Amino acid sequence: MDNTPVDPAEYMKVLRKTRRRRAFFFCTVLVYIPALWVTHEISPTNSAMGTVFGIWLVLLIVSTVLAALSKCPRCGNYFHMHGITLLILRKCLHCQLHISAAVDP
Ligand SMILES: [Zn+2]
Repeated sequence: MDNTPVDPAEYMKVLRKTRRRRAFFFCTVLVYIPALWVTHEISPTNSAMGTVFGIWLVLLIVSTVLAALSKCPRCGNYFHMHGITLLILRKCLHCQLHISAAVDP
């Protein structure tokens, strides 16, 4: 199976999906402190804080897995994974395609 889409619409679809998953990951990371702060303001109990932390941890795991499994539209490999190394950078770890690249494979 050829993993490299040549159709520009499909290419952009894959790239948009990768960008969405990155955004989801970074939003999850950034929401941690505000979420705990708001929870502490509303209900400063250990169980409330623990519940919010648990939900956040599940979201973090899900967003990390989604980001790790996002594909590069140009080379067809995982955009953020090289072997077992997960690096959420702005370029593909295999072909150096930039995350904000336009349709030009
Ligand atoms: Zn690539």
